[in-house]
Amino acid sequence: MPIYGGIEAGGTKFSCIIGSDPDHILKESTIRTTTPEETLPRVIEFFARTTETITAIGIGSFGPIDLNRASRSFGYITNTPKPGWRNTDFVGTIGRALKISIVFDTDTNVAALGEVKWGNAQAVDHVLYMTIGTGIGGGFIIKGKPLHGLLHPEMGHMRIPHNWKQDPFAGICPFHGDCLEGLASGPAIYERWGIPGESLPATHQAWALETQYIATGLVNLLCALSPQRIILSGGVMNRVELFNTIRVKMKELSNQYFDHKQLLDNIEEYVVPPKLGKRAGVLGTLALAKDAFDS
Ligand code: ZN
Repeated sequence: MPIYGGIEAGGTKFSCIIGSDPDHILKESTIRTTTPEETLPRVIEFFARTTETITAIGIGSFGPIDLNRASRSFGYITNTPKPGWRNTDFVGTIGRALKISIVFDTDTNVAALGEVKWGNAQAVDHVLYMTIGTGIGGGFIIKGKPLHGLLHPEMGHMRIPHNWKQDPFAGICPFHGDCLEGLASGPAIYERWGIPGESLPATHQAWALETQYIATGLVNLLCALSPQRIILSGGVMNRVELFNTIRVKMKELSNQYFDHKQLLDNIEEYVVPPKLGKRAGVLGTLALAKDAFDS
């Protein structure tokens, strides 16, 4: 059985893994995200130390990233607001040091792929995966392939209706203010109410607003992409009641226009959490490498 490596690169930690699938994991490690000069050598060391022969490494990274193979900055983390990481040659640095093939994609596309391979989206052709936490991002898989396009999807930065009277909070996105991420991410909840989401009571008005914004974003994505399943993850979604309030709000906003039993009668099976839970991303890195090299 071929062995693969994986790197799930996040804003607070890098999760590194070696294995073949969820039942055959040989080695794992977590490295704190500091600067590229400090973090990337530690990642390289993790893989350099292994005695296993690794076929390829899959990387799911925070972004924005350059996925265009014809571009001079392919494999870079590009204009990220994360201090120190702008214009970082991620793929080049890892690939040159380890002399190994790298498959590169966004963190959300990779997590979506993990769910397609081993989770709640097996045998589903069109899958939307949204993470709602420190940031908001979305991945989309079409028949096993991640959606890229001009850059790559940036679903968290979609603009959504903002009722200033009801919610006078300006939003926290440094680029757009009140885009979806600016209004509904974990840090937006904290900035708006002065209390982190996990400490807010279930009856707090924050959750009705959260439901409104997330459901609106999802209905927009439903209109644009027609996913056959929607997977919601991330720290904000640890508030499990949101799954139901979002489903109800999506039905209300759709107003029976989308005539499909998945939406009308089986929405509990349509909008779901990841089966792999917090492991969707890191396991997805193995799925990414595996899909590129198994054939
Ligand atoms: Zn934004």
